[in-house]
Amino acid sequence: MDSREQSACSNCGEDGAAFFLVTIVMGEKKSQRLCKKCYEQFQAGSPIHQALRQAKCRFCGGQAVATSMFPAGGTGALPHFDFVCRSCLEESQRLFLAKLDEWGMTLDGFPDPGEANQIQQLIEDIDAQMRRWVIQRDN
Ligand SMILES: [Zn+2]
Ligand SMILES: [Zn+2]
Repeated sequence: MDSREQSACSNCGEDGAAFFLVTIVMGEKKSQRLCKKCYEQFQAGSPIHQALRQAKCRFCGGQAVATSMFPAGGTGALPHFDFVCRSCLEESQRLFLAKLDEWGMTLDGFPDPGEANQIQQLIEDIDAQMRRWVIQRDN
């Protein structure tokens, strides 16, 4: 494979494929290299993107831009896929990081399964603070 082939888009054959896409279809892993145009087309047609376009922010009801509020690191014990708008995403992440700091926890070790109660508490705290923050922001 020469360098020209390596950078050709798997979909349209154009040069300059800068996006690498791995899809798993019926248990079969398939990797593709796509140009920007094809990548955007794929994104626009993917189920998560379509769900996102119709989704409302869980805090303020605005147009959602993200599906995940908390990092699914560590054991992945936090399957927390929420729809949030951009400003609520920024604020909730700020609150989240501040809370971790307060408890002397780091993102790397988060979430620890032994801290399930603490994590639940964290989510409830952030929810409560976000509700107050949204009211202030919108007034
Ligand atoms: Zn292409
Ligand atoms: Zn919002």
